[in-house]
Amino acid sequence: MRDFFGVDASRIKHKKLFLLDMDGTIYLDNNLIDGALDFLSAIKRGGGKYVFITNNSSKSVNDYINKVNRLGISAGKENFLTSTQASAQLLLEKYGYKPIYAQGTSSFIRELKDFGLNVTTDFCAEACAVLVGFDLELTTKKLNLTAQMLTKTDAVFYATNPDWVCPVDFGFVPDCGSMCFGLTKATGKEPIFIGKPQPRMIELAMKNFGADRDEVLVIGDRVYTDIKSGINAGVDTALVLSGETTLDVLQKSADKPSFVFNSVKDMIF
Ligand SMILES: [Mg+2]
Repeated sequence: MRDFFGVDASRIKHKKLFLLDMDGTIYLDNNLIDGALDFLSAIKRGGGKYVFITNNSSKSVNDYINKVNRLGISAGKENFLTSTQASAQLLLEKYGYKPIYAQGTSSFIRELKDFGLNVTTDFCAEACAVLVGFDLELTTKKLNLTAQMLTKTDAVFYATNPDWVCPVDFGFVPDCGSMCFGLTKATGKEPIFIGKPQPRMIELAMKNFGADRDEVLVIGDRVYTDIKSGINAGVDTALVLSGETTLDVLQKSADKPSFVFNSVKDMIF
């Protein structure tokens, strides 16, 4: 197998854990990318595992399961790792059942609680951490409360994902990174981001599935998040040109993927 530039990509078929981005990689909005189902079947046939990795913390894992099932992809809870799950696991390991203040959608808060975290959305002087998600139910009241938490307490500031914007049908809306920028300007505190391009989600998936670095392949359509997270985690990466990145953008980027393909259709082994 050779990639877009003729690079030998035959080691892809020996990978055991395929960490896939979703939008732009396996589907575009509500349409499957041609060849995506066959590629996922090939992974299964080869004894590998695929896990979808997303920075979006406004939706729950169940929302994503429903979406990909509707598109004909067989996937359950074990096939997903969201920045919400990664944040919850990280905070649970660090703080156990100590109180944590969180700001995000109601499904985000519910998921954190289901994970076993002691979450509050009220002012809490004893909180060890403040966790901000991509809040599609944001109000000025919530922003005020979070700013108070960051100003009046010593809680450590975490955020699920650094994305500035989220694509919608008319263009973009501010994502978690933009919301946090406002909080940083107001309080002087900067968050520790958990999602891509940080390597934390990749490392967590490797730990959860017991995979070694050379058994992992990160696949995505964005160099500065998907590919960068793989590079930061020290694993092989494959950029697909079926989404956001053009060849021109790739050429100008300092971060180079291990492999480049037109789409996952060219990765079927
Ligand atoms: Mg994408």
